[in-house]
Amino acid sequence: MDLKTYIRDVPDFPKPGIIFKDITPLLRAPEALKFTVEALAEPFRKKKVTRVAAIESRGFIFGSCVAQLLGAGFVPIRKPGKLPWTTRRNEYVLEYGTDALEIHDDALTNDDRVLLIDDVLATGGTAAAASCLVQESGADLVGVATVIELSFLNGRTKLNGIPVHSLITY
Ligand code: AMP
Repeated sequence: MDLKTYIRDVPDFPKPGIIFKDITPLLRAPEALKFTVEALAEPFRKKKVTRVAAIESRGFIFGSCVAQLLGAGFVPIRKPGKLPWTTRRNEYVLEYGTDALEIHDDALTNDDRVLLIDDVLATGGTAAAASCLVQESGADLVGVATVIELSFLNGRTKLNGIPVHSLITY
């Protein structure tokens, strides 16, 4: 299936100069959604994944479906102040300023084997920050899976050799 036909480019969203990769055409097409979730999970079926961690908010859409396919649990990684229990935080640098992600401090243990999911890998700052949260918990991060990779931004290089599986590359 050619998933690129389900991605809509939206120029200058959310700010001038950004070409936003809109996944909503993919989400509303039953055959494309099913294909995407199965393709994200496929390389990890035999990797004994115990938890799928996903990044707010579009990562959640795919993450819980992949968790179910792999027989794993789901762990949310969220923007600051959203998670109700005690959290650990990782701050990361954006083009202008900083942002942060949080995870519940009891979400993962050193027995866990974790697959990290997001919709888009761009500069890799978000995925790298989420990877740190997973690894600091003592869990084994077996890979990162994204629907879209903007390879010209070299996001993979921030992930220090963690296997990256992306379905669509620009
Ligand atoms: P980055 O930290 O630069 O890898 O950015 C990744 C995060 O920003 C992901 O959670 C994406 O949802 C979002 N993102 C970055 N660039 C785009 C883009 N061109 N289109 C859609 N989402 C994007």
